[in-house]
Amino acid sequence: MHHSGKIIDMRVLDVRFPTSLSLDGSDAMNPDPDYSAAYVVLSTDRGDGIEGHGLTFTIGRGTEIVVAAVEALRPLVVGQDIAAFSGAPGAFWKHLTGDSQLRWIGPEKGVIHLATAAVVNGLWDLWAKLEGKALWKLLSDLTPEQIVEMVDWRYLTDALTPDEALEMLRRLVPTRPQREAQMLREGYPAYTTSAGWLGYSDEKIRRLCREALAEGFTHFKMKVGADLSDDMRRAAIVREEIGFEHALMLDANQRWDVSEAIEWTKAMAQYRPLWIEEPTSPDDVLGHAAIARALEPLGIGVATGEHCQNRVVFKQLLQAQAISYCQIDSCRLGGVNEVVAVLLLAAKFGVPVCPHAGGVGLCEYVQHESIFDYICVSGSLEGRITEFVDHLHEHFIDPCVVRGGHYLAPLAAGTSITMNPDSLAAYTYPGGSVWQTPPTPLFK
Ligand SMILES: [Mg+2]
Repeated sequence: MHHSGKIIDMRVLDVRFPTSLSLDGSDAMNPDPDYSAAYVVLSTDRGDGIEGHGLTFTIGRGTEIVVAAVEALRPLVVGQDIAAFSGAPGAFWKHLTGDSQLRWIGPEKGVIHLATAAVVNGLWDLWAKLEGKALWKLLSDLTPEQIVEMVDWRYLTDALTPDEALEMLRRLVPTRPQREAQMLREGYPAYTTSAGWLGYSDEKIRRLCREALAEGFTHFKMKVGADLSDDMRRAAIVREEIGFEHALMLDANQRWDVSEAIEWTKAMAQYRPLWIEEPTSPDDVLGHAAIARALEPLGIGVATGEHCQNRVVFKQLLQAQAISYCQIDSCRLGGVNEVVAVLLLAAKFGVPVCPHAGGVGLCEYVQHESIFDYICVSGSLEGRITEFVDHLHEHFIDPCVVRGGHYLAPLAAGTSITMNPDSLAAYTYPGGSVWQTPPTPLFK
């Protein structure tokens, strides 16, 4: 549908939550994150007050650098017709990532790509709100041709061509309505990481496992990689609480070298993990493949992707059979367009997509992407489960809702990412009220 009007302003906020005080989000690589976002607000000259909100997730220091990178993209966005994006989102994505001088500080990776994600996600939010649809519904109503258009195919065609993608998408068009009805009825399966942070006491782990079981979760993830005997002890506690009929996943957050990853995970094989996540450097495609080969006989899969910088590295991970689970990240990739590219690649290789979430806003994003994946791209729930972490949702106007271990299909127009104005004001760094007095540590 054509939407008149121009984008006339883009505000960027540095929003930080002092989560390090409670050790929420603590893992072997990131002991004290302050969940944060570079938060973008796009406004138009339409006079209807509808804004596009988008964010990219960060963990504290350095958010100001992402904010500066978003500012550098301003001339590519402000002054553009809304229809320039909604009429050809793929062409617009290439416009945003194609500035030759800005491309030098990527290309398509690092800070400039995080900034791209915030802007691209904001544009999708604007379009979805103008359509009066949730993002997943907007995407699921697109034709296969429109979905193929939104992807930048450069560097992908040795693994997947636009024609192959069209064929995959067309095959699923007749059955889209039944999967959409199922998603509205049941929601999309979720797993919990809330019990598994490294900094939690044994009592807190047990209590959180019991609560999650009672809420209907069947898959549980815990952080590992700091100390093997401590990991073994905590895995035993989690298995005592959840039994062996439920799934346990391990997440090492890039802590190990390749051989160490293999040895450590083998030592934990008795706890029958479904996957080992981020065993080593996110850039080490062949290292992941070596770990995958070594763990295959034990029935332990390799999962990665939250730090996978773009569709090209995902392509290599898939080509090398280095991952059994593909963990897209809504903001590490260049927003919705590049997420869709990776969904298509993963479907081609038959690898289930199990998105990374948590942080702030990532759960809000991935619910849309997973539901769209099921309706239009994968057509299957087998082996698929999307991360859920129960932190900071209270700051969003339409937060994700998880019931019985499933993300309920969001119904509000947009991407669910619009934050309460009061939260934005209070947590803006360094000017917000939360940051005016030095916070008191809860414990040393
Ligand atoms: Mg992880």
